[in-house]
Amino acid sequence: MPRAFITGISGQDGSYLSERLVAEGYDVHALAFSSEPTPSSPGVVLHCGDLTDIDRVRSLVVEIAPDEIYNLAAISSVARSWQEPDLTARINGLAAVGLLESALQAQEATGNAVRFVQASSAEIFGEPAHSPQDEHTPLRPVNPYGAAKAYAHLMTGVYRGRGLHAVSAILYNHESPRRPAQFVTRKITAGAAAIARGEADSISLGNLDARRDWGWAPDYVDALVRAARADRADDYVIATGQSRSVREFVAAAFAKAGVSDWERHVRVDPAFVRPADPSDLTGDSSRARKQLGWRPTTSFEEIVGRMVEADLSQAD
Ligand code: GDP
Repeated sequence: MPRAFITGISGQDGSYLSERLVAEGYDVHALAFSSEPTPSSPGVVLHCGDLTDIDRVRSLVVEIAPDEIYNLAAISSVARSWQEPDLTARINGLAAVGLLESALQAQEATGNAVRFVQASSAEIFGEPAHSPQDEHTPLRPVNPYGAAKAYAHLMTGVYRGRGLHAVSAILYNHESPRRPAQFVTRKITAGAAAIARGEADSISLGNLDARRDWGWAPDYVDALVRAARADRADDYVIATGQSRSVREFVAAAFAKAGVSDWERHVRVDPAFVRPADPSDLTGDSSRARKQLGWRPTTSFEEIVGRMVEADLSQAD
């Protein structure tokens, strides 16, 4: 039975990934932060521990000897990374290196190949000079989140050079009804649903002009799995290729919720405007499409529709 080890299982992607690997018959192990609520992950063996405890992670990985490792754990919010830049550096940057080294040691100890997937991010490109970005775009992060992810991305390449099947999946924004409400899409769909039901009158947002390439989270998890099992380890941009503004997301979500005049219900609050915010991140996923046979299955309208529907029905 193939074995997988996942960090960040309590997040959106970790939940979809663990469900998928359990359904495929994998023996799935995960690191669960002792400080976090234990995720309900049927069929997953949870190991308590902190990703920044490198010795603990190393002995765990060598003991489990996984075939596939998925590093999804992160301070996942750019906004929070401004509040806790040093913690972001430790978790999003250094901890990935500890895990890469553990993977290499497990591989050397057992003689079995370990396939390592780093959940990298479009934020490593920061304010890119051209659009769409691909695997050759220079790294130019503009926030603590992106800088820490850039370090982990580079170290993934270093370990690939040392003989590990180490993949960096450069994920653009990816959403679902499981997206926590600190992300703008869920904040908007939950807000639109509450307004449609008369439970709220307005929501407060930051930069409505920011453009992001929004995809469907389960598609991005599919890309991670394909990248783990590919013949060749590489960097892969995972994106739809189309960006929309926050304003367009708001308009689509309010229309779907049946609220016609969204401008009356959306306030702009400078507290949600970031010190630096990439204006447009759009990815060219040609390499992943060609080498992994991957493609996004869900349109922008479908993503908005599914998220609004889920929020409307949760409120019932
Ligand atoms: P991120 O791209 O991983 O930071 O995902 P987010 O969903 O948090 O943010 C996406 C974009 O929405 C960024 O450009 C934010 O500046 C913008 N944005 C505008 N208003 C808000 C808000 O109220 N909350 C959040 N989280 N983002 C906002």
